[in-house]
Amino acid sequence: MVYAMVDTSGPDSLPAPAFGPDSEEMLRCTRCELRYVPSKSTSSLRLTYCSFLCELGDLGFSIAGLEHMEPKPKAIEAPAVELDEPASEPAVVD
Ligand SMILES: [Zn+2]
Repeated sequence: MVYAMVDTSGPDSLPAPAFGPDSEEMLRCTRCELRYVPSKSTSSLRLTYCSFLCELGDLGFSIAGLEHMEPKPKAIEAPAVELDEPASEPAVVD
């Protein structure tokens, strides 16, 4: 019996990240942690968020939206109506 020593260790060729040679420096979004190009970000804080949605989601508001933001009156809460269910007391038979 001959056991062939098969060497399966090939050259470690990890796939290189496909970044173009002139690719812009990519940042990582603070919120969704996606890599993005700052110049293509729709966020006002394009060095922090990949898009205004992340900015909005993280801050709770958008910087751009602040310029047009008006204080909204607090919604009036409807008074909670508690329905008293008819208590079915056991009839006391004396
Ligand atoms: Zn993001």
